[in-house]
Amino acid sequence: MNVSFLNLTKQYNSIQVEINSAIAKVVKKQRFILGEEVAAFEHEFARYLGAKHVIGVNSGTDALILALRSLGVGKGDEVITQPNSFIATTLAILEVGATPIFVDINPDTYQIDENLISEKITSKTKAILPVHMYGAPCNIEKIAQIAKEHKLFLIEDACQAVGSSFSNKKVGTFGELGTFSFYPGKNLGAYGDGGAICTNNTNIYKKLLSLRNYGQTEKYIHNEIGVNSRLDEIQAAVLRVKLKNVDRWNVQRRDIANTYKKLLKDIKVQKILENSVSNYHLFVIQVSNRDELGGKLLEKGIETKIHYPIPIHLQKCYGYLGYKKGDFPLTDVLSQNVISLPLYSELTSNEISFIINTTLEAIKSL
Ligand SMILES: *Cc1c(COP(=O)(O)O)cnc(C)c1O
Repeated sequence: MNVSFLNLTKQYNSIQVEINSAIAKVVKKQRFILGEEVAAFEHEFARYLGAKHVIGVNSGTDALILALRSLGVGKGDEVITQPNSFIATTLAILEVGATPIFVDINPDTYQIDENLISEKITSKTKAILPVHMYGAPCNIEKIAQIAKEHKLFLIEDACQAVGSSFSNKKVGTFGELGTFSFYPGKNLGAYGDGGAICTNNTNIYKKLLSLRNYGQTEKYIHNEIGVNSRLDEIQAAVLRVKLKNVDRWNVQRRDIANTYKKLLKDIKVQKILENSVSNYHLFVIQVSNRDELGGKLLEKGIETKIHYPIPIHLQKCYGYLGYKKGDFPLTDVLSQNVISLPLYSELTSNEISFIINTTLEAIKSL
């Protein structure tokens, strides 16, 4: 048996007719930029999240960059975040000219340790940018409270966490801004790059509409410097079809994750906070010989991945920031021990049993 880490072909096959006709409709109309599909998707996604506004952009990375820019975060400002995320979180902070201030993680939840945030706040701090890691909500209520107490902006990196919730409220809606990625491998994936920002603040919404569209409010009138970062009509059409299915897919993922947790019971898995629902974007376990485990699983036909092998503060490109191994010890340990098992709604029960049994056997023989 061969189990790939993700199988988007199976998902496509299950919605093929609707997807093809949605794409054909856009092509037939020959309107590709900022038309009806993007407007409809933004409206539907806002309703889904329980947010007032959604702005579709080019990618999750752009969503983060534009979110920071729309709040005026830039040179001389500090933004508190975590070093165990995908690189885009920190990339965005540096892109706008601000400085990332890293906080280590909780070793059980793999989330930013909210108890360590306050001590990192200085007179330069402008915003807190926590990540909902692997789709599981971080302690966003507590972090929102810290942001409020210190009058800081809160931007949520919900790029992995579409559909996840904390206290029955969708993540991404707790701060000024929430950012999402529609990278094909995410739970709500486009057929190319895509992203979105949500907000309840109408002034920020208007600013973002302009920023993503060359900084124009009217055609050829540019009162501020913008960029070209728009979700396109074909992607929006695909996302509208998928949005109708994403809750169902997330529930299937959760069921599979619960089976994994029950049967892999001696293995360290990500702890999900009480009061929260994860979309199980990734199923990340920790073992001390993860490379060996990955090798053994691959031999048997099971593909795994590492999220992520090198923490952001130790990436070569950020060497100039001057961090070294040991600065964030819990993040270092996590990066050495994590391995992600295949988890997606199209996995068959045979495949699920195969993954569980093979993993248990492989771990025993390590
Ligand atoms: C995927 C991802 C991003 C970036 O999204 P892109 O659409 O690939 O630019 C940002 N942050 C996190 C945590 C992600 O997983």
